[in-house]
Amino acid sequence: MPATPVRWHIERHKHILASHPEVRALQGTYPLSQAFIVALVAADVALAWAVRHTTWLTLLAVAFGVGAFVGHALGVLIHEGTHNLVARGSRANRLWMLVANLPLLAPVAIEFRVQHLLHHKFLGEVDGRDTQAPPRAEIAFVGASPLRKFASFSLGRFFYPARSANHVPRDGFLLLNWCLQTLATAVLLWLVGGKGICFLAVSGLLAFGPHPLGARRLSEHFAMRADQPTVSYYGPLNRVSFDVGYHVEHHDFPAIAWPRLRALRKLAAEEYGGLFAFQSWTRLLLAHFFDRRYRVEHYTGFGAILGTSPAGPCPARKTPCPPDRQSGPPSPDGGSTGGMLPPSFV
Ligand SMILES: [Zn+2]
Ligand SMILES: [Zn+2]
Repeated sequence: MPATPVRWHIERHKHILASHPEVRALQGTYPLSQAFIVALVAADVALAWAVRHTTWLTLLAVAFGVGAFVGHALGVLIHEGTHNLVARGSRANRLWMLVANLPLLAPVAIEFRVQHLLHHKFLGEVDGRDTQAPPRAEIAFVGASPLRKFASFSLGRFFYPARSANHVPRDGFLLLNWCLQTLATAVLLWLVGGKGICFLAVSGLLAFGPHPLGARRLSEHFAMRADQPTVSYYGPLNRVSFDVGYHVEHHDFPAIAWPRLRALRKLAAEEYGGLFAFQSWTRLLLAHFFDRRYRVEHYTGFGAILGTSPAGPCPARKTPCPPDRQSGPPSPDGGSTGGMLPPSFV
């Protein structure tokens, strides 16, 4: 029996296919992503080479303003490869993921593939096999503290691999990933020097950490409504992120490649129009850090499951939530936002 958020997506998938059979045609690979991978890898190396003699301030500015976008885009294409959407067959996709990984320094591609597929399969399991969910210990430790929320958001993911759920079997591709990254880092060190390597490291940390793009990780499952465990973002940064903000659409149809997610939303507009969605990753990031009402346990409604917040996912797509589970954080004027962030934060 799948967990509730998983069932929510399965039921939506079936319902959308029944009412819009043409959606089936949107599924399949998008080989042009391969060209984007090559171009982005080249761009990242070129950037590192260009900043190898600049001041540290310039290096940080370029990392924040350009490098993070390139690193994030490569991460999104690694995600596409995880769902076998870059080429035909899992072997070819894993090879393309290894290419996209090259300028990111850390060997993340194969590990991410294993863990992310478990995230889809077991979405919303507390202390379970949802490999992207915050562990119970992290939720308890972080609480409402802005400083701890910042630390947890920026560094928490480095501790996740220690969980048994995140264990990755040591197969040939994992070893190849490690070897290639060791070799790539050595070649890059020779080509762009220590400063260039620092640029790539900072760009990568920002892309998936304290940066507007990093808020993507938060927004995907920052459950602000009791009946919605996954949330989409429809703001402008999708244009530089291969539409990765379309996360409800992605969990509904993981076999649809990034250029066709907008078409899915358009075809099944009635299924997506009524859902909560974010419009700004920047505002979400600031709200998460500085507003004490928004916590780590907003992940897929964990607060309700752990008893630290009344909002939590409802059991089925068509089942209305009982009133006691519809309440969310209070609005600044003391009322109820109905489980949604105050408008100024979205
Ligand atoms: Zn997800
Ligand atoms: Zn995915």
